[in-house]
Amino acid sequence: MVKTILITGGSRGIGRATAIMAGRRGWSVGVNYAGNEKAAQDTVRAVQQAGGKAIAIRGDVAVEADVIAMFDAVENTFGRLDGLVNNAGIVAPTADLADMSVERLKRLFDINILGSVLCAREAARRLSTRRGGQNPGRGGAIVNLSSAAARIGSPNLFVDYATSKGAIDTLTIGLSKELGPEGIRVNAVRPGIIETDIHASAGEPDRATRLGPTAPLGRAGTADEVAEAIIWLLDDASSYVNGALLDVAGGR
Ligand code: NAP
Repeated sequence: MVKTILITGGSRGIGRATAIMAGRRGWSVGVNYAGNEKAAQDTVRAVQQAGGKAIAIRGDVAVEADVIAMFDAVENTFGRLDGLVNNAGIVAPTADLADMSVERLKRLFDINILGSVLCAREAARRLSTRRGGQNPGRGGAIVNLSSAAARIGSPNLFVDYATSKGAIDTLTIGLSKELGPEGIRVNAVRPGIIETDIHASAGEPDRATRLGPTAPLGRAGTADEVAEAIIWLLDDASSYVNGALLDVAGGR
């Protein structure tokens, strides 16, 4: 079935790859971004060239009003919503916990945890078959972006980031049980080391090249390889999959 989805952080990396893959299926995509307007517009064009529809929606997932506005924009433009890819996430420069400032911790938890929870809440309100009164939701799917870091813990690198992804796993487990009866499947994808811009934010742009070969599959993954899993979890092909934490980490 052709779907309408919102991808937070859809302008670059894994979100962008997912948007373009959705476009190839003829889906409609809300491409949320934080500030990189050029990247967002480029992704919108790529989705359209792939055969889908898309709009760029600026908004910070850590700001409640922005989250509500981005869901409104998708529903007002495309007339429906079938799924959320809870993808926006950040990492901060590599450090030991003892050296991390409270400002860093708050910003990271605001985006990675609060932002994901707010977006999931908004999706639940709009998709639930038990909500909406005379005009109930049609159900749908939420895919949360966790990380292999939730399992590994990332000591001496970014324990804060790993902690935030542990929260995403727990969110996925809890919501899959809470929302399953309301027609919404909730799953998570846990990527390993994937070639995107995120490693530059940690102060190591070539991290994927350096550490990729240490994975059992001998290389870093691509954003497309993660997008394949996300699209499958959104699609009806995975109709009995709920509460799964799917590792896309080359065996790491
Ligand atoms: P990326 O290339 O750094 O892209 C990040 C995206 O998130 C951009 O579109 C950015 O928008 C957006 N964003 C950042 N802060 C935001 C905010 N406050 N509100 C809305 N959007 C925001 O990241 P990525 O590597 O694709 O990672 C995507 C997800 O996968 C993240 O949750 C990450 O933790 C997870 N993950 C990645 C890896 C990996 O190795 N790459 C591994 C495991 C998990 P702008 O373009 O406007 O800046």
